[in-house]
Amino acid sequence: MCIFCMIANHEIPSKIVYEDDKFIAFLDLTQTTKGHTLVVPKRHSKNIYELNDEDAKEAMHVAKKVALMLKKAFNPIGMNVVNNNERPLQSVEHFHIHLIPRYEKDGFDVSFKDNSKTSNLDETLKEILYANK
Ligand code: ZN
Repeated sequence: MCIFCMIANHEIPSKIVYEDDKFIAFLDLTQTTKGHTLVVPKRHSKNIYELNDEDAKEAMHVAKKVALMLKKAFNPIGMNVVNNNERPLQSVEHFHIHLIPRYEKDGFDVSFKDNSKTSNLDETLKEILYANK
C-alpha cells in the first residue's frame, strides 16, 4: 500500500490539518515553507490523469478550505497551489495538492519563463485540438 493511503488510513501518524470522509490534509514533513500542507483524497489515484471525477471536483473545494485555514493561522503574503504529476516531478504516486504559504524571503521559487517571442499560439492550439479530435 502507498504511503499516502497508509496516512489516510491512520496506519502512519501525520499532523492532520483537516479531515473528512473522503479527504485528508496534513503537514508536509519537508515544510518547504511554514504551514506547507498536502491535500490528499483518501481513495487512491496515481495522478491527475487517473483521478476519479468526483475526487477531482472535491479536491479544489478542500484545497480552498485548507488554504483559508493556513491564511488565518499564518497571514502569509500569498499561497502557491502546486500539483505535480508523474516521475520525476511527483515523488509519491498518490494524487496530492501542495498548499505552500508564502512569506517574504522564504526561498521558495516558482518562476514563469516568458517564451512569448518564440512561441506560436495558433500552432500550439492546433496541436492540442488535433491530438484530441
Ligand atoms: Zn495511495
